[in-house]
Amino acid sequence: MADDSVVIINKSLPRLDLSKIKTNATCGLPGKPKTEALTETYTQRIGALQELLFTDGRRGVLVILQGMDTAGKDGTIRHVFDHVNPAGVRVTSFGKPSSAEQAHDFLWRIYPAVPARGQIGVFNRSHYEDVLIVRVHAGKLLPEYLQREKHLWANRYASINAFERHLTEAGICVLKFFLHISQEEQTSRLMKRQKSPDKHWKLSEDDFAERKFWHDYQNAYEQMLANTGTATAPWHIIPMDHKWVGRALIAKTIMETMENMKLKVRPASDPALITRKL
Ligand code: AMP
Ligand code: MG
Repeated sequence: MADDSVVIINKSLPRLDLSKIKTNATCGLPGKPKTEALTETYTQRIGALQELLFTDGRRGVLVILQGMDTAGKDGTIRHVFDHVNPAGVRVTSFGKPSSAEQAHDFLWRIYPAVPARGQIGVFNRSHYEDVLIVRVHAGKLLPEYLQREKHLWANRYASINAFERHLTEAGICVLKFFLHISQEEQTSRLMKRQKSPDKHWKLSEDDFAERKFWHDYQNAYEQMLANTGTATAPWHIIPMDHKWVGRALIAKTIMETMENMKLKVRPASDPALITRKL
């Protein structure tokens, strides 16, 4: 697992050690300028493929991004979907749930954001937060009766796997990316934000508080990744210490997945329309 290729988890594993997976791998990419040029060609192709996804009309794509604070989720979204028709992509960010959301099961707020056929949906955080931050801070974020539930996390993994299998069977391709950074890289990114006035708005109390729980988060991620990687909705562990590497790998994976969907322009609703006199 320590070699220089993207780790894909497509079945449940007895355990997973994230510290053995490199955060700064370059995965055989040809250096920053050339890789950025490659990313540009991938993202242009994703734009064309989304148009085809729409004209095909049978399938949708759901891209799920998870990662620690500063892992690069926002920047990835900005770059990877740069050439997609804004009408064809919808980004949903999942933050702290509202009281209405908290009064429902954890998938309730997710469903309305699932992309329609023909569309790409992007989740900036997702239902996975309910087995990550909620697990790390269970004592604070869960009502007491749930804290006592013995199989809570196993049950949630099972619900997630069933939910994603259902989406896949309904024609929605689920693509999951874990943006993997080192703790040192997070420190350096936060320091950079502190030094850049145009980035000050991005600093939040949570970034400082959650850092202290780094190891608990890595642990929760390890459990989650080991239990929710499936053949139809695998996890891709993306080395993200170099953003240009991570963005290229994510763009390439999305592009190749969409190429493999063998999308076709759907025929005219009535063939007679093609030759009808105007
Ligand atoms: P950001 O992505 O920086 O806007 O931050 C959103 C914050 O909301 C993060 O700290 C998430 O961990 C948190 N969050 C997202 N989903 C949940 C959830 N289901 N329960 C509690 N906190 C959440
Ligand atoms: Mg944040």
